[in-house]
Amino acid sequence: EVKTQGRHGYRFYAPEMSQRSAASQRIENVLRHALAHNELSLQYQPKVDARLGHIVGAEALLRLQVDGQDLFAPDQFIPVAEDTGLIVSIGTWALREACLQGRAWQREGRPIPLSVNVSPLQFQYAGFYERLDGILNETGLDPSLLELELTERTMMTGGDGSIRLLRRIRQRGVRLSLDDFGTGYSSLSYLKHFPVDALKIDRAFVRDVTQDAETAAITGAIIAMARSLNKEVIAEGVETEAQSRFLREAGCSQMQGFLFGAPMPADVFQQRLAGQAA
Ligand code: C2E
Ligand code: MG
Ligand code: MG
Ligand code: MG
Repeated sequence: EVKTQGRHGYRFYAPEMSQRSAASQRIENVLRHALAHNELSLQYQPKVDARLGHIVGAEALLRLQVDGQDLFAPDQFIPVAEDTGLIVSIGTWALREACLQGRAWQREGRPIPLSVNVSPLQFQYAGFYERLDGILNETGLDPSLLELELTERTMMTGGDGSIRLLRRIRQRGVRLSLDDFGTGYSSLSYLKHFPVDALKIDRAFVRDVTQDAETAAITGAIIAMARSLNKEVIAEGVETEAQSRFLREAGCSQMQGFLFGAPMPADVFQQRLAGQAA
């Protein structure tokens, strides 16, 4: 029996592990190839104003596609990228690509806030701030048009050092949001320690909000508390009118989900923006 140390503690080697690592090995190879051959892309999912319904921003989401077909979904390849350290290059690529796109839209007179996901290893990797600062300088994007999405887990690991880094990023003029809120382990009272501008309510809450009275109560309480702390609240994964209505009435300021638009290529997103301005 071989004991290997995974990033999340000790794991025991078992037959199904070798299968998993074969799959993960394959994903790693595909990722390395994609990085070297410029086969990664970003799609943009609209964020809409909860009351007025117009697009107020977008989340940039990584895609690993060949001929428009997904080879692997982010939930499959991001964990492999994290475990192999490839996330540092991939995440940097995504950040630069989103900033270049944001800068292009800014130049065309259609500035639109974009958010980019940052995973734990990427955030903790030495030089994250310098890299971010470099990309902002190099692309010339107005930093107030950039938001970084981090989960509670990412913010909690690293303790005070992470809080200081978050503050520095914010001082650079970049917005911060707490992604997948409610799925982590931190208590609600912990929220006041995170210097974030916005909180994204996880899809798991949104899914059940019109089905389950307890979920509705918890979600309502999260929104009320976030608002009292002057944080913006965004709901993710909104798929139905009923969910949208509940969340709007509970005080969500922005929404994101298939009801308003799935992630789409940059040119399609740009057309939607143009259509809205007309
Ligand atoms: P996330 O940041 O929480 O992103 C939201 C995910 O929910 C996206 O999945 C999006 O396509 C999906 N989604 C949006 N609206 C709906 C809806 O109405 N219903 C349902 N069922 N799903 C919806 P996606 O694009 O597969 O990304 C999954 C995760 O992968 C992201 O979760 C994020 O954690 C990670 N990820 C994606 N791109 C990046 C990236 O550039 N860097 C890093 N570090 N992580 C990324
Ligand atoms: Mg996100
Ligand atoms: Mg999320
Ligand atoms: Mg997620």
